[in-house]
Amino acid sequence: MTFQPTHRGLVRQVWMSGTPHWIPDVSRDEGFQRAQLAARAGLHGAFAFPVLAGNVTLAVLEFFSREIRNPDPSLLQMVRVIGSQIGQFMARKQAEENLLYVATHDTLTGLPNRYMFNQRFAHALNNAQRYRKTMALLFLDLDRFKFINDTLGHPFGDRLLQEAAARLRMCLRESDTIARFGGDEFVALIEDFSEPGDVISVAQKILHALRWPFMLQGETCHLTASIGISLYPNDGADFANLLKNADIATYRAKEQGKNNYLFYSGEMNDHLSARIAKETRLQGALERNEFILHYEPKVEINTGRITGMEALIRWQHPDLGLLPPVEFIGHAEDSGLIIPIGAWVLRIACAHNQTLQSRVATPLTVSVNLSARQFEDKHLLREIERALSESSLKPNCLELEITETMVMRDTQSSKKILDGIKSMGIRLAIDDFGTGYSSLASIKRFPFDCIKIDRSFIKDIPQDPDDVAITQAIIAMAHSLRLKVIAEGVETQEQLDFLGEHGCHEFQGYFFRKPQPAEDFSKLLRDNAGTLALAAAG
Ligand code: C2E
Ligand code: MG
Ligand code: MG
Repeated sequence: MTFQPTHRGLVRQVWMSGTPHWIPDVSRDEGFQRAQLAARAGLHGAFAFPVLAGNVTLAVLEFFSREIRNPDPSLLQMVRVIGSQIGQFMARKQAEENLLYVATHDTLTGLPNRYMFNQRFAHALNNAQRYRKTMALLFLDLDRFKFINDTLGHPFGDRLLQEAAARLRMCLRESDTIARFGGDEFVALIEDFSEPGDVISVAQKILHALRWPFMLQGETCHLTASIGISLYPNDGADFANLLKNADIATYRAKEQGKNNYLFYSGEMNDHLSARIAKETRLQGALERNEFILHYEPKVEINTGRITGMEALIRWQHPDLGLLPPVEFIGHAEDSGLIIPIGAWVLRIACAHNQTLQSRVATPLTVSVNLSARQFEDKHLLREIERALSESSLKPNCLELEITETMVMRDTQSSKKILDGIKSMGIRLAIDDFGTGYSSLASIKRFPFDCIKIDRSFIKDIPQDPDDVAITQAIIAMAHSLRLKVIAEGVETQEQLDFLGEHGCHEFQGYFFRKPQPAEDFSKLLRDNAGTLALAAAG
């Protein structure tokens, strides 16, 4: 107990000493502060004793009498016993309350926990059944929390959860319940609303509340959430079903780009089973040789010469057909499977390049995309070395593509990793450039050889003046930094002409060729060599 008596005198003395104290006549006691008050009330004798739990004073009880009374040893002895008995009782009560609190609350955030939520839900369900009311269950999952927790450390993650919980609580009314279900998952129960629009407002309020950056331990951190909503009685008659369906809706919200909310609908179930089937299958896809690489040619704009190719992974799924990376790379990242898959891509891409070069006798650079997880993996350099030595490919025939966002996340360690790769003689390209808001100065610090202008800027040139300006600026910047610049996603002659006129070195895109299997690419190389020979002769 943190209470400390503020006034001096009897109570304070007893509180501090932990022993009873007896004053025969307060009007003659210099230490007694309230002498005048006592005199007015006609009081003389006083004694007080502490309520003790062990050595800790929990309270002080004070008694007065009208007569002047000398200390009574047997009474003093008795109040010692009474004080300690009351103390034990109070301590037990406190312990029980603590226990109840711990059993019903999440210790980290102080929000109700799953157990308490269940209790409240049962109560609310009763009400809803009796009075034919609706209720909404919101399942909220923080986006990228695991990543933040892993990279910035668990103490930081804990603080972030506490802050997020405090903001969430403010988005709800007193009568609503929000609980933490563990990890970065929160569940809210909204009772008593008149229309779904009210629930939408709550979801929007939550997303809005999280939008402001979190400033913690000198770091600024951005957090978003995905929310799935199920409604009673439409989406489930009991807690288990409502929760399951809200959870499914959350998954869908994440798939649709995160930072949004979705109401559950029946079709989501089918979609989910297909997804789970896909995820389970991804586990063994590498062993079953279900991945293949396609190659997208890179072409020098001035000469039309193929200088290399980008390796793009595909998954040959037995039921779903050929799947593009967007269908599985995200899950491979989340599950960690990207590490062995990425290592496989490196080895196969290097081996293919070596074979191709021996066939066509022209130098070729193969570009391999690295994922964020791979980039941060401590065995990355070892895997690269292995791919090069197994294939006997020269290091300068391998280029690694790293996105701007990956580099900017932690610039110091990025620089170390990139310097390590560079020192092996491997080329480095910055992928999807222009989407990550990095400044010219920050790019200069890293040992990049090449900048790839993101497809989103190329798409609308030369019509869109903003995209034209950005593309021109990136090309000019690349020139001044003496970097090679390549445009991705070129689909039209107009785009290509624009890029050529403005000094872009290379391009790739469907205008020239779509990504294709190694065999087709090999054939294309032979034809391209012929075209070049003709061009040179002409
Ligand atoms: P990215 O590295 O930016 O790759 C370019 C993507 O744009 C490829 O999509 C390519 O097929 C597509 N593309 C190229 N030219 C055009 C065009 O003219 N028009 C249009 N509409 N699209 C074009 P893809 O193969 O679906 O790959 C998507 C992303 O998946 C890649 O973006 C890359 O980030 C990732 N990815 C692909 N392969 C791998 C891999 O082996 N490992 C990792 N970690 N990521 C990969
Ligand atoms: Mg790429
Ligand atoms: Mg790209």
